[in-house]
Amino acid sequence: MVRSFDVIVVGLGVMGSATAYHLARRGLRVLGLERFWPPHWLGSSHGRSRIIREAYYEHPTYVPLVRRAYELWAEVEAEAGRRLFLQTGGLTVGPPESELVQGSLLSARTHGVAHEVLTAAEVRARFPALHPDPEMVAVWEQRAGVLFPEMGVAALLGLARRHGAELKFGQEVTGWDADGSGVQVQTRMGTYRAERLVIAAGAWVTRLVPDLPVQVERQVIVWFEPRSNPQAFRPGHLPVFIVEHAPGKQFYGLPDLGEGIKIARHHDGELVDPDLVDREVREGEVESVRELLRRYVPAADGSVLTAAVCLYTNAPDHHFIVDFHPAHPEVLILSPCSGHGFKFGPAIGEIAADLVTVGRSRVDVSFFGLGRLGPSGGARL
Ligand SMILES: Cc1cc2nc3c(=O)[nH]c(=O)nc-3n(C[C@H](O)[C@H](O)[C@H](O)COP(=O)(O)OP(=O)(O)OC[C@H]3O[C@@H](n4cnc5c(N)ncnc54)[C@H](O)[C@@H]3O)c2cc1C
Repeated sequence: MVRSFDVIVVGLGVMGSATAYHLARRGLRVLGLERFWPPHWLGSSHGRSRIIREAYYEHPTYVPLVRRAYELWAEVEAEAGRRLFLQTGGLTVGPPESELVQGSLLSARTHGVAHEVLTAAEVRARFPALHPDPEMVAVWEQRAGVLFPEMGVAALLGLARRHGAELKFGQEVTGWDADGSGVQVQTRMGTYRAERLVIAAGAWVTRLVPDLPVQVERQVIVWFEPRSNPQAFRPGHLPVFIVEHAPGKQFYGLPDLGEGIKIARHHDGELVDPDLVDREVREGEVESVRELLRRYVPAADGSVLTAAVCLYTNAPDHHFIVDFHPAHPEVLILSPCSGHGFKFGPAIGEIAADLVTVGRSRVDVSFFGLGRLGPSGGARL
């Protein structure tokens, strides 16, 4: 017997779990299908901590969205009774003319984000662990901080269930068919039907939408034990930070939350197949992070406590894809990653619920439409 639902959500990382939560809260019959057992460390929503920030260098369009995300994370925290966010302040550091600094300032000035511009000497005085190059400047924003991804996903899934969603783990979706009056979804364990389908499959999205123009990039994250002055790495002494160390090249770090200071390069990873990716972190990869550490965060150059692999799903322009399938209006594609999606999870989930229920969202998401990708975008799907 094929069971029917209003909406089926494929993939229960932060995007799928947030979508299931918002849809269930609106009283829809929701089925969430996840191939692994979330929260897990095989996709993109793991690694103990995520940066949330507002002076959004990628594009000013994101600022209203991240502001909504702050509100919704606070609501999820309250409803779940769990702390999911820690405010630490944040710095975007680089040469004054760099993409990172200029982009942060443009977003901050366009949307009135409270911020300060610090010189390198001021950064060193306030945050002794950080050693920016003398000619660098930093955009300081008080409200930036850390989100806890595994707890965030677990909270969203728990609330989705509490609002009546049915969530099935260990069920890989192997295919779907839209027939104009709904969508039939196949897994190895059974077949389900719904009026609408939301595909939030992260790095595996092209398994279900073959020609979507995204690529999967392997990322390495490393936690270091501070070599000296451990207090300087604790929240309150060290904010979340992003440094543009060469034109268009960034690395970032998060304070020591008890498991060491977390450091990683942003992009610069190899393109991979998410099912065949090497999940071992190689010595050379740790060394390439250490190089940056020695220069910009020297006292953190201690022993490696943990290292892990994670996956970015990149659109060609590193912006999100949130759009209906051009050939199947009952199917919504959610691929909001390119290495910066987590913070927006609950806001993207709300937008997805709007789009699925009323066909339009309260926030203008045309910026995330497939059409912008030209012939390689929707036309080919
Ligand atoms: C190292 C790293 C650091 C990052 N840092 C930040 C940061 O500081 N701030 C920030 O905002 N963002 C950051 N990001 C980006 C952010 O984590 C991602 O954009 C976000 O987690 C993507 O969520 P998702 O739900 O799309 O993907 P995922 O969490 O990967 O979820 C997709 C889910 O779909 C499931 N799935 C796939 N195929 C199927 C199928 N056929 N059937 C059933 N289930 C399926 C998978 O098992 C998975 O659970 C970072 C990402 C990485 C990798």
